[in-house]
Amino acid sequence: TEACLAEIEAADALGAFVHKTPEIALDQAKAADARIKAGEATAMTGIPLGIKDLFCTMGVASQAASGILDGFKPEYESTVTQNLFGAGAVMLGKLNMDEFAMGSSNETSVYGNAVNPWKVDERALTPGGSSGGSASAVAADLCLAATGTDTGGSIRQPAAFTGITGLKPTYGRVSRWGIIAFASSLDQAGPMTKSVRDSAIMLGAMAGHDPKDSTSANIPELDFEAALTGDIRGKVIGIPREYRLDGMPAEIEKLWDEGKAMLADAGAKLIDITLPHTKYALPAYYVIAPAEASSNLARYDGVRYGHRARLGSGEGITEMYEKTRAEGFGAEVQRRVMVGTYVLSAGFYDAYYNRARKVRALIKRDFDEAFDQGVDAILTPATPSAAFGLGEMAEADPVQMYLNDVFTVTVNLAGLPGMSVPAGLDAKGLPLGLQLIGKPWEEADLLNTAYALE
Ligand code: GLN
Repeated sequence: TEACLAEIEAADALGAFVHKTPEIALDQAKAADARIKAGEATAMTGIPLGIKDLFCTMGVASQAASGILDGFKPEYESTVTQNLFGAGAVMLGKLNMDEFAMGSSNETSVYGNAVNPWKVDERALTPGGSSGGSASAVAADLCLAATGTDTGGSIRQPAAFTGITGLKPTYGRVSRWGIIAFASSLDQAGPMTKSVRDSAIMLGAMAGHDPKDSTSANIPELDFEAALTGDIRGKVIGIPREYRLDGMPAEIEKLWDEGKAMLADAGAKLIDITLPHTKYALPAYYVIAPAEASSNLARYDGVRYGHRARLGSGEGITEMYEKTRAEGFGAEVQRRVMVGTYVLSAGFYDAYYNRARKVRALIKRDFDEAFDQGVDAILTPATPSAAFGLGEMAEADPVQMYLNDVFTVTVNLAGLPGMSVPAGLDAKGLPLGLQLIGKPWEEADLLNTAYALE
């Protein structure tokens, strides 16, 4: 813990930690030492973690990297952090992210962007987003692992951009209670770690039934680490043809081929599959996610949490709402709220929101059909490119940024578990990731396949 705290101080330029909690960390570390001495340790006891700013942590600033939650210190602990601390893990501080987890580059944060520790020619690169601070902190060895959340790729894309392992569990595996909501039917928390084994251990500590989240599954808890045998003989790996995009860099294609070869060498059987509705996933996601966000973010009204605008004389409650929200939310969040409100409005509900929900059902059916054919897991690239330069896309059309999520959003729409595993470097020396998509509730199997690919 002390070594990590020193590293964090030395690495301020990465912008990974936005609130540091050294006193809490040292207290928790002391308690962990005592627990280890008493012979009551778990695999997580004494492990120093970074916590994404989206998780409510009791008495510690939890702002979703937004100005609207300025000064908000929750009076309760999220179930995930409660589970981790209950297992003896240590919190080093809160990690940078895109505001309300909306973004793919960590540039929408009120704190400014986090930086990728990987560099090309001294050009500063994005660590990806929205869990950019988590990815940067783990890749730069500021912590042993971090929590992330993934609504449309926010664990897997930053993991791929920084050469670490990121797992988005099956929807319902991990409680959402106390995690600041973005799009409730898609949000899921997961581990961001240095290895597949760490991912298995941390998932075990994070997961579990929680009566406080009505979508949390009441299923037996598994020992995910015990599943890591590396034996994947006879497993069927689907290769979806729709993930071969026109204009995709040859390097990504090559990496995908290498991943296929590794799995085949380990005794898996590769088959070509089709997921025909893939091309509609991005538009469906960018209707559903903003729709749910506009509803979830209605609570930030200047009364209950954080920031409240100053009013001029004669201004009343309407001006208070308007000014508070205009000042507190950044441009991307405002864009999502406006898009979401529009697609849910009476006149356009059927044309956009309802249609997107139908597309979502078709995307889920594509996966069900592949699994019914005997496919155990699906292998795809995690991202259509390696990490890009800071500022490069933020100034472009927002849709350019949304295109980053082309391989990841399908997994959230279908509620499936998905992982990004580091798969090699591109010609410039930047990390690239491969994505494995598993069957619902089959994280143990998914982790074992990832273990064979690692
Ligand atoms: N980049 C996607 C978005 O901006 C995904 C975000 C996420 O998974 N939280 O919505």
